[in-house]
Amino acid sequence: MFEMSKLKFHLTDENKYFNGRQFSIEEAEFILFGAPFDATSTYRTGSRYAPQAIRCASINIETYSFRTLMDALDLKIHDAGDLPQTSNTEEITERISEVISEIVEDGKIPIMIGGEHTITYGAVKALKNISTIIFDAHMDLRDEYPMGVKISHATVSRRISEVLGVEKLLIMGVRATCKEEIEYAKKIGLIFKTSMEMIEKEVCEYIGKISNERLWISIDMDVLDPSIAPGVANPEPEGINLSKLLDTLEKLVSNNRVIGFDIVEVTPAYDNGITSIVASKIIFELACMIKNSLRNSEYTTI
Ligand code: MN
Ligand code: MN
Repeated sequence: MFEMSKLKFHLTDENKYFNGRQFSIEEAEFILFGAPFDATSTYRTGSRYAPQAIRCASINIETYSFRTLMDALDLKIHDAGDLPQTSNTEEITERISEVISEIVEDGKIPIMIGGEHTITYGAVKALKNISTIIFDAHMDLRDEYPMGVKISHATVSRRISEVLGVEKLLIMGVRATCKEEIEYAKKIGLIFKTSMEMIEKEVCEYIGKISNERLWISIDMDVLDPSIAPGVANPEPEGINLSKLLDTLEKLVSNNRVIGFDIVEVTPAYDNGITSIVASKIIFELACMIKNSLRNSEYTTI
């Protein structure tokens, strides 16, 4: 049983639960928590402030979803609060692995709010026998970055490829990389799609090869164009728009059993709040899609 007390979450103010609602752990279909970790950020730091900013946005936007014909207020979400802050990457990775394992073993769907992208490694490490789709402007395939650091926001996809095997990973929305990453991707046979390819193609047929796997979805908010998501650690022009991201997610969710997802890299200090609003909207829509897909799912347990 998932127990907040054992995991020592920092509990949020009663009025600041995600969505403004709080279901008990027993009732909940989704367990949401923040991982306010940004110790390896190298450019615009401050993603540790994102969980609270996204909660605040979630309380102040409308909740009805025309994509799913559902009201996000009806989602049974338990907001567990935030993990305690630390600057120790190994420690946060282990903690996240422990939390994600417990939530999934308890038959619930984790929603993890970062923090920087590094935290996805902890989630995937806990689940292992899954596929992962990462939405990101960057490949995050360096072996070390900054120098000597093996687990960071710039190496997270490489570490994930090592844990899962390259055939279980797909990166979408790429438009910012370096020679080392391209060479590595080519060497191991990693499939990635650029933002330009995503914009051109109507349907993402290339997700087919992992379509029947249990799936973790990781959304680095810099996959979106900076014109709609400027408050990120490493903004990169020529990104996809929100409709393209949601359309793609819809496609994924309807073909897959999504085991959980994360949303990372929002840095609230660098905008007027719009990126947290967009992040909150994505969580609403994706959680509604997942709930919808479970109704027709071949899997019997939620
Ligand atoms: Mn990233
Ligand atoms: Mn990125």
